[in-house]
Amino acid sequence: MKLYQALRNVAKFRTVFDFGGRDVAHWFPGHMAKGLKQMRANMKNVDCILEIHDARIPFSGRNSVFQETLDVKPHLLILNKMDLADLSNKQRILKKLEKNGVRNVLFTDCLKQRDDNIKKLVPTVMDIIKSHPRYNRDENVDYCLMVIGVPNVGKSSLINSLRRTHLKKGRASRVGGEPGITRAVLTKIQVSERPIMHLLDTPGVLPPKIESVETGMKLALCGTILDHLVGEDIIADYLLYSLNRHEKFSYVEKYNLEEPSDDIQQVLKRIAVKLGKTQRVKAITGGTLPSLSQTTQQQLMIS
Ligand code: GDP
Repeated sequence: MKLYQALRNVAKFRTVFDFGGRDVAHWFPGHMAKGLKQMRANMKNVDCILEIHDARIPFSGRNSVFQETLDVKPHLLILNKMDLADLSNKQRILKKLEKNGVRNVLFTDCLKQRDDNIKKLVPTVMDIIKSHPRYNRDENVDYCLMVIGVPNVGKSSLINSLRRTHLKKGRASRVGGEPGITRAVLTKIQVSERPIMHLLDTPGVLPPKIESVETGMKLALCGTILDHLVGEDIIADYLLYSLNRHEKFSYVEKYNLEEPSDDIQQVLKRIAVKLGKTQRVKAITGGTLPSLSQTTQQQLMIS
């Protein structure tokens, strides 16, 4: 019944989101470019790049600069947080990525204690490396990987998950750094015995590629851009807009709404009530009052 009501409402929802002339230029701190330089300095010791990205936005925000800037290396794209993604269209995602030249893709959930896909990682990487010539590294019998990606996609979690899976312990065995290059960047941890495989344990942080405000908003929704730089209110509104556009109405039941709504203020108030995140404020008499206070003598505020 609720779904029927919701579908009747679809026609009422916004079909275009008003970004209010926002400028994405300030959403990413400039110091991130420094990371790229450090990664480049370490590239010659790396046999395969593990690029990790959020499975909810497989096409948005990936920074492909490293492909041109750094040596072209064997590369595996890890789409993490698969537990949060709708993977009913996995084949379409893989096809589109392949069209863009990304053939090696692995979906993972780094928070899961035993993720079978994490177990597949080392053999997959070996297959990829073997199908490429090893630039400058023929004499080495061990393998070195580098984890890179935009902020907050789970780079550290992936490293920890690999440690758990292959070392069966929380602490990784560390091998020393090399002189002349930032030690932190060159700290290596072993992730596999046979073959011997290490990864550089400081993940490379890339600035995301924000080609439009909409891409920026998707990145913000996935926690890749600091909320306050974008604006918490507009992020919440964009989420509501997207849920309605995709006819995902589970929020109605979850937050005790009567029906789907396109009004973020109304929805946030209901969420605040449901979560007990409200506070009483005294109504100021005699002055101009916010409309909610006029009628209820109390205002709901989002904590
Ligand atoms: P990094 O900044 O790329 O190193 O990302 P972190 O490893 O610090 O992870 C960022 C956040 O995402 C943390 O709150 C993690 O707990 C969470 N996270 C990482 N991997 C996953 C995953 O596979 N699924 C879910 N649901 N959360 C994850």
